[in-house]
Amino acid sequence: MEKCPACGAVYRGRDCCHRCKTDLSVLIRVEKQSGDCFKRAVTAFQNREYEAALLLADRSRSLKFSKKAERLRQYAAELAGAERVPCTGES
Ligand SMILES: [Zn+2]
Repeated sequence: MEKCPACGAVYRGRDCCHRCKTDLSVLIRVEKQSGDCFKRAVTAFQNREYEAALLLADRSRSLKFSKKAERLRQYAAELAGAERVPCTGES
């Protein structure tokens, strides 16, 4: 979080806004959960667990949108989908 969503003051890393005193702790927790999901998605992707990476990246993105989570979600979806294509031999 870069700014307080209520008043726009620069976020200084505390649980409440220094200017308007809005409680930001819930937003901070959601942001952390999103980051944790993204890290787990990256690990799953590196382990070629594309379905898990897709779910985790999707969860990360739904908690807090980020371009990196969206890109990872798209790559994982593509690769997870590719795994579902039945093998048809050499024809
Ligand atoms: Zn504020």
